[in-house]
Amino acid sequence: MLQIFDGHNDVVSKLLAEERASARALITEGAAPAARNFFQRNAQGHIDLPRAREGGFAGGLFSIYVGPDPQAPPPVGPVLGRHAGLDMPIKFPRPLELGFAQRTSMAQMGVLFRLQRESHDQLRVVRSLAEVQRCFDDGALAAVIHFEGAEAIDPQLDMLEVFYAAGLRSLGPVWSRANDFGEGVPYLFPHSPDTGPGLTDAGKALVRACNELGIVVDLSHMNERGFWDVQQLTTAPLVASHSNAHAMTPTPRNLTDRQLDAIRDSGGVVGVNLAIGFLGDGTDDPATPISRIVEHFEYLIKRMGIDHVGFGADLDGARVPDAVGDVAGLPRVVDGLTAAGYVDADLEKVTHGNWLRVLGQTWKGS
Ligand SMILES: [Zn+2]
Repeated sequence: MLQIFDGHNDVVSKLLAEERASARALITEGAAPAARNFFQRNAQGHIDLPRAREGGFAGGLFSIYVGPDPQAPPPVGPVLGRHAGLDMPIKFPRPLELGFAQRTSMAQMGVLFRLQRESHDQLRVVRSLAEVQRCFDDGALAAVIHFEGAEAIDPQLDMLEVFYAAGLRSLGPVWSRANDFGEGVPYLFPHSPDTGPGLTDAGKALVRACNELGIVVDLSHMNERGFWDVQQLTTAPLVASHSNAHAMTPTPRNLTDRQLDAIRDSGGVVGVNLAIGFLGDGTDDPATPISRIVEHFEYLIKRMGIDHVGFGADLDGARVPDAVGDVAGLPRVVDGLTAAGYVDADLEKVTHGNWLRVLGQTWKGS
């Protein structure tokens, strides 16, 4: 089975949320549903170790994602769209407070480091390409720490050094909200990704610092002006870890042809997102067939070439087609690509080769 290195999953934030919900229920109700045990096969969620092995999932970018602060006042302003997969209206979220974002991010990193310790070497937080390759050779899961939104980092970037020392190797300056560094795209459909101003001065300094340290700058969730600001500044290949083709599914979370061309020209990579909201016609259909996922792969490959497309499945972060189901279903996507005529050399690049090349070019001392 081909080993899949994937550009985006949210299992860590889900595990923390499940643990906290379970602890709360124990206090208020005296009994609690158990949080997912990552080392056993579960019916809930998309990822655990047994299902990852079934699906040939060799690792990827493990997102540290800070949701809204439950203590903060509710969002203001008009409803701007619907969060794909969460089935709830979304208003443009309030900026997060730095302390809340730091506490939440460190708690999630704690969850990931605990998994590593309890895994008996079956899951490793990786900081270099050599470590990723050792995981591939040993059959261990390779987890790259990725921040989805840089709210836990102060504009002076002191915390960036701390998180880098702890293992941070990839970050999106913004999730779909505004922060000190720039603005993300709201969930509107259909809509252009050109939804607001580009990077702030602090955002530009963050990109330069990421280049200096060797941290991937992820463009998924960033609005179009921010995208072009990064493209002008960065010395690394451009990366959109979990986004599809805007020409096929016109959500601002997907990439226009011009953006795809710029990613290709930089030697970068796009991870195909399996969220039903980013694959179809805006109806978020759980019956979206595998063939539709394959069509997004084909569009991106025709536009950019086989060297610039990978996976960015968004497992545990979005509703994915029933035909995929969970991480164990990823080989069905690979089967779909095979049926569409891609040969082994192509599939090796798409399943992991392209991601590993770009990480190796971006990280220092790989
Ligand atoms: Zn995302």
